[in-house]
Amino acid sequence: MKILVLNAGSSSIKYQLFEMPGQSVLLSGAVEKIGEEKSLIQHKIFRKDGSVETQQIQDVIPDHLASLRRIVNLLLDPEWGSIKSADDITAVGHRVVHGGEKFSRPVIVTDAVMDELRKLSFLAPLHNPANIKGIEVASEIFTHSIQVAVFDTAFHQTMPDYAYRFAIPERFYRDNGLRAYGFHGTSHQFVTKEAARYLSADLDQFNAISIHLGNGCSITAIKDGVSVDTSMGLTPLGGLIMGTRSGDIDPSLIIFMAKHLDMSIDQIDQLLNKESGLKGLTGDNDLRNIIQRYDEGESGARLAISMYVYRIRQYIGAYMATIGRVDALIFTAGVGENSAFIREKVCEGLESLGIIQTKELNEGNHSGIRNIESPESNVKILVVPTNEELEIAIQTLPFIEA
Ligand code: ADP
Repeated sequence: MKILVLNAGSSSIKYQLFEMPGQSVLLSGAVEKIGEEKSLIQHKIFRKDGSVETQQIQDVIPDHLASLRRIVNLLLDPEWGSIKSADDITAVGHRVVHGGEKFSRPVIVTDAVMDELRKLSFLAPLHNPANIKGIEVASEIFTHSIQVAVFDTAFHQTMPDYAYRFAIPERFYRDNGLRAYGFHGTSHQFVTKEAARYLSADLDQFNAISIHLGNGCSITAIKDGVSVDTSMGLTPLGGLIMGTRSGDIDPSLIIFMAKHLDMSIDQIDQLLNKESGLKGLTGDNDLRNIIQRYDEGESGARLAISMYVYRIRQYIGAYMATIGRVDALIFTAGVGENSAFIREKVCEGLESLGIIQTKELNEGNHSGIRNIESPESNVKILVVPTNEELEIAIQTLPFIEA
């Protein structure tokens, strides 16, 4: 059966079509710049003979409904698609960023669920309204398919209260839902399961620290297979230093900027989310370029990388204290999967904590899951490619089989 996974943003829709339960990907792509002068469609087909073909289309696509219709036309196309009718899609799995405290697992979308999602939009004003739009247009087009919402926050709903509460008066939690929720849950969950499987460990006894380093970065403490703490908080701004986000800062910076630098809350929001992190420190948010500048000896790049790595190491130390025994350290996402340099820097100096990698394995060029620790290491060190879309398809499947 076929499951379509959709990730709708404010001006984009990413899609992937899976044959399940076999987990093979048939088609993938994205419509970007929706509503702009020229939108861009990128479409990929994974053919049975193992070849992959890509096409790009530029066109005027005014909104999400028109975008999804274009996607459906591609799915139906005799040469570029792999379905005969929209009814061939048994289920659509939707990425929804914020599930608040209401959703600790995926759900079939009903009117009541949609109402809840709308209520939660205040917690993720940039993401949830776009995710809701994606569900609305998919329900309009795939009238015979079930719609399932899979939440970025859900995996972290197992965090204990002493980890997710902020030390501010209780009423802000009770009346306004102000607490840490955590994000990247689908990715952390996927790589944790993959790592346990790879190590032949029982998931419900598996302890790990999962480090997701992409444009957004977060780190999660996993005890007995579930999330017990994570670095992002109320929104995806907290924790590690990211491409354009500051991560943890002294909260008084915000007060100081508002009071003494005459900055508005919107300006501070923009600054901390879009103009900080690696971009704020170096002018560039692509770590590949910053590493190149580091190698050329540029002091700004050196400082940025030192800060980036230092923050990750601090969290590793903290999470070792949180979970006690650590079976595995997991590196994932764009930087975590591809940068041997960053992995080496993160592990440097952690030998006394039982984390020892080998240079040869770390710099090896295999794709797929692999371990890079030395035989003396107490902790397995794994590189695990993440696949959030596949995890959404996996989490959507039981609703079909039920
Ligand atoms: P997103 O968070 O948008 O899903 P990805 O997980 O794809 O992002 O990660 C994108 C980031 O990965 C980019 O900032 C890019 O600099 C970084 N990246 C990819 N390959 C490498 C590499 N070999 N070395 C360092 N950084 C890399």
